[in-house]
Amino acid sequence: MFISFEGIEGSGKSTQIQLLKEFLNQKGLNPVVIREPGGTQIGEKVRDIFLTKTNEYFDPLTEVLLLYSSRKQLDTNVIKPALSAGKIVIADRFADATIAYQAYGKSVPKDFIAQLHSDLEITNPDLTFFIDILPELSKARISDRESDRMESESIKFFSKVRSGYQACAKDAERVITIGGTDSIEDIFVKIKEAVAKKLNVSME
Ligand code: ADP
Repeated sequence: MFISFEGIEGSGKSTQIQLLKEFLNQKGLNPVVIREPGGTQIGEKVRDIFLTKTNEYFDPLTEVLLLYSSRKQLDTNVIKPALSAGKIVIADRFADATIAYQAYGKSVPKDFIAQLHSDLEITNPDLTFFIDILPELSKARISDRESDRMESESIKFFSKVRSGYQACAKDAERVITIGGTDSIEDIFVKIKEAVAKKLNVSME
């Protein structure tokens, strides 16, 4: 079972992934947790290129190709083997993020990304949690972080990304939208319920 978490910066993905990981560990289900871009030796190098600030114009199509080179490595070397071994994989962002950030945020044609995704035979998540917050709250929550290249983007950009995520949620049944302003505990109850239902395990 492959679960992805999506949302703009500061929406609470890492917080919820940590809680879910602990919950599943207690059940002896020990999930494999991955992050994008990255998660393989080559992917972590791509992550470095991707997130490091540069004065050079960073073409959004270059972004897509870098993301997909990292994603392909991750899928081949980590996701597919883990799923074949019956493990649960939890991803901190996956392909929906490319639609949200590069298609909606930076106007790369959505069809190009969808075609690349399909041609590369990338695994699709079974369940996706889109934790939705306003861009203003995102900025406030991440204000004490040393921002990387993506986190330095404007509120206007994050509004476009958010609308991209909302479109993904509308298009795909696997996506569950959760309001990110509820308490950490309340959000986790919803996530736990959805995962338990999908896995057919008890929530206690
Ligand atoms: P992300 O991984 O999506 O960037 P984080 O999980 O790192 O987000 O959360 C960003 C910040 O917001 C952290 O300081 C975290 O403690 C806080 N936070 C996360 N979820 C909530 C919530 N539901 N309510 C209030 N603060 C939250």
